[in-house]
Amino acid sequence: MTKPASNLQIDSSRLWDTIHTTAQFGATPKGGVRRLTLGPEDKQVRDWFRTACEKAGLEVQIDGLGNMFALRKGRDMSKPPIGLGSHLDTQPTGGKFDGVLGTLAALEVIRTLNDAGIETELPLCVTNWTNEEGSRYAPAMMGSAAFVGDFTVDDILGREDAAGISVAQALDDIGYRGDKPVGAQKFSGFIELHIEQGPILEAEGKTIGVVEHGQGVLWYDGKITGFESHAGSTPMKHRRDALATLSEIVLAIETIATELGNAVGTVGEAVIAAPSRNVIPGEVTFTIDTRSADAGILDQLDQRIRAAAAGIAAKRKVEVALDLVWRKEPTHFDTTLVGAVENAANALGYQNRRITSGAGHDACNLNTRLPAAMIFVPCKDGVSHNELEDATQSDCAAGANVLLHTVLSLAGVAK
Ligand SMILES: [Zn+2]
Repeated sequence: MTKPASNLQIDSSRLWDTIHTTAQFGATPKGGVRRLTLGPEDKQVRDWFRTACEKAGLEVQIDGLGNMFALRKGRDMSKPPIGLGSHLDTQPTGGKFDGVLGTLAALEVIRTLNDAGIETELPLCVTNWTNEEGSRYAPAMMGSAAFVGDFTVDDILGREDAAGISVAQALDDIGYRGDKPVGAQKFSGFIELHIEQGPILEAEGKTIGVVEHGQGVLWYDGKITGFESHAGSTPMKHRRDALATLSEIVLAIETIATELGNAVGTVGEAVIAAPSRNVIPGEVTFTIDTRSADAGILDQLDQRIRAAAAGIAAKRKVEVALDLVWRKEPTHFDTTLVGAVENAANALGYQNRRITSGAGHDACNLNTRLPAAMIFVPCKDGVSHNELEDATQSDCAAGANVLLHTVLSLAGVAK
């Protein structure tokens, strides 16, 4: 790295300004953002982003699922670019930073290189992935998942939102179904900056999280079949109560995840089939979300949760069915790129630690096909997917500086 490049810093107020400018697209009264993927506000932010990229001299291409790729040429165009970016869509009651920070920091990196007149050896590609959030269309991280071939493009185009509008229709409505074949963009590596969405960095007073792993996931749909009967006249020992059964299962999952360590487990949905104050619940459906960064612990979670559910069911004389609907293996980010992130954070003098991502990210999908890594910065109280989501200007700038220097170390400085 040449001298001027090693001293380079992004423009903190310009980055902060772009974050707040784009937060107007879908701004909510409580200070958050509602920008559902492929909706009118997503079109607004995409148009803004495309214009900003073009003004920065980038060539913008859009693929058949609306993923956006903005290319900055390098001296050596025989090699694929280093990718950098995240997503611009939000949850229905989302914040200003989740996804947005990584995409706009990538733009800020380009603007900084332009201002300094720095050409990189490898080209760079600023990226905005379609539908990371998954709230309007399932699955989450849709654009990057199809990009790496986990789903076919036709499958994704046919997915419908709650109003019956397909992804294909939504893309056409906002003019973002591009010609670039999905998956055609090549990358030498990909770096995503994101807020942590958890409390660890803030609690430990660290500015940068060097993301080493991403958690694997097990999702189950569960159904408990007991027997409905009168709440007044059925003695306790004669009951086959589906909700009481679920209660024991919920506590068992809490115990199992705690005992295993490096694991979390949640029952986030539970529905009594025909709820009534004076009827013992006869049927309950529910979901389980459990995660670990260790594939062996995922296996143990599966065995122990199934065994606990079967034991509780036998004791209570009810039936419990558990259907595993999704297994995603843990992510182990590319060690060279993780090292590059760590070196950049150290060189810039930021307090940092290695960390595991609790949430899924586009970079986790990409890492299955190409070298990828992530940079985390703290968010206030660890809160995300909430209008109160917050991060400081200096932490955002620190993350963008680490992104800049990681990218420079990977792409190399020409001349
Ligand atoms: Zn995100």
